[in-house]
Amino acid sequence: MRKKFYISGKWIEGSKYEELLAPHSDEKLAEIPLATMSNLEEAIHAAKNASFEMEKLSSHERSVILEQLVEQFKENRTQLAEILALEASKPLKAAFGEIDRTIATYKIAAEEAKRMYGETLPLDAVPGGEGRITYTVREPVGIVGAITPFNFPFNLVAHKVGPAIAAGNTIILKPASQTPLSAFALAEMIDKTDLPKGAFNLVTGKGSEIGEALVKHPDVKAITFTGSPEVGISLKSKSGLKKVTLELGSNSALIIDEDVKLTDELINRCVWGAFVYNGQVCISLQRIYVHQSIYHEFLMKMKNATELLKIGSPMDLQTDISALISKRDIERIDDWVKKSIEEGAEVVTGGNILKERIYQPTILSNVKNNSEVSCKEIFGPVVVINSFNEFDDAINEVNNSRFGLQAGIFTDHLQRALYATKKLHVGGVLVNDVPTFRVDLMPYGGVKESGYGREGIKYAIQEMTEMKLISIKL
Ligand code: NAP
Repeated sequence: MRKKFYISGKWIEGSKYEELLAPHSDEKLAEIPLATMSNLEEAIHAAKNASFEMEKLSSHERSVILEQLVEQFKENRTQLAEILALEASKPLKAAFGEIDRTIATYKIAAEEAKRMYGETLPLDAVPGGEGRITYTVREPVGIVGAITPFNFPFNLVAHKVGPAIAAGNTIILKPASQTPLSAFALAEMIDKTDLPKGAFNLVTGKGSEIGEALVKHPDVKAITFTGSPEVGISLKSKSGLKKVTLELGSNSALIIDEDVKLTDELINRCVWGAFVYNGQVCISLQRIYVHQSIYHEFLMKMKNATELLKIGSPMDLQTDISALISKRDIERIDDWVKKSIEEGAEVVTGGNILKERIYQPTILSNVKNNSEVSCKEIFGPVVVINSFNEFDDAINEVNNSRFGLQAGIFTDHLQRALYATKKLHVGGVLVNDVPTFRVDLMPYGGVKESGYGREGIKYAIQEMTEMKLISIKL
């Protein structure tokens, strides 16, 4: 079925189309329009015009629109999860989880729309500041350009569309080429709300063409990008004085301290962190450092639990592991694993391509810290488990990375937990949990090559608004 762009509340045909194939079956899912510069101009023009309509809305009206979207998501929950399973090969179990999180994300946005506070400033605290009432307000930037990745095509879009609407902005969405169906479904649902036409526009096409043009366009005032560090860093250098938020990749790590009881709950949590959605998660658990005293017990328990994972079709509710997003990725992962073995790593389980698009859930031990599986973002079902003796060595290994999104530590020692929270150079530290934990209202983002700025609706609203100072001389 041929899809259409959604611009100014109308469905617009493209001049060129591309076939969209399901990653797990190569079945043709749809024909997707490829935007030209003139389609993009049309979307920007629509967003500019709609800014006047958005300005007229009160915060409670914007909140109601987001609540209407929440209701749409609830009504279509099953159908939306199936879209994820088809276009992203996300196992249904995880797909339902993503839809439920997306509902929560839009709900939080509906609530945050009513909380865009400024502050009152006592200017008379310095000589010359007397006799004034002074306060700040936050104003929408105008047009927000959103570029999103394939791995959470509903929820990571919600982290851009939700705060943009909550703040009174208009938005142009460019979703990942592999996962546009979720964006078309979103456009259909938005169309049924009271959002002014033109406030949300959807264009599809190649990121390197249309995404880059969006970033460079002078009328787009803020760019919110989630995707790979390579693309994000290059976009920032092209964005001039625009506001830019970058949510990029990582090779997230976990420390398991001595004396920690290796319960089933802990092991299952680690298996989930490493292998949920085939490890194609920005905070996927890629590196684990375990105290020498419990290292072998941990390896064996992880091996046993990992081998219980069910491999199959994403459409089966029992499936844990399914096809990776592309054949190119499966070759890259296999190449990195093979190289790490040549460099001395041992395979605890897995280590092979199972079918054309499925990689076995893999555990590697004794991996060199300069092996690609350790120091680059693997974005696949592979976890590295090494041991440590000194606590500081484990902290140094976690920090020995280009990335710094989230890190985790399991420990029974409060002092070591607090020491780790201070020493770990990341955007978020999870004590007694894996780094893969996220709920959608927390400030989320990384340091180093993991990003720039924060999401989590309240924080994204800050990134999508300008502060204005008002001083009234009495
Ligand atoms: P990607 O290849 O960087 O693509 C992300 C988006 O950027 C897509 O819409 C893509 O469009 C577009 N794009 C590609 N080249 C572009 C260019 N030159 N100019 C403008 N836009 C361009 O990333 P991905 O493979 O979809 O996603 C995986 C990456 O995202 C991983 O690194 C992961 O860690 C990261 N991620 C981070 C977070 C976070 O919150 N920190 C969350 C999820 C994922 P096309 O699809 O058309 O190429």
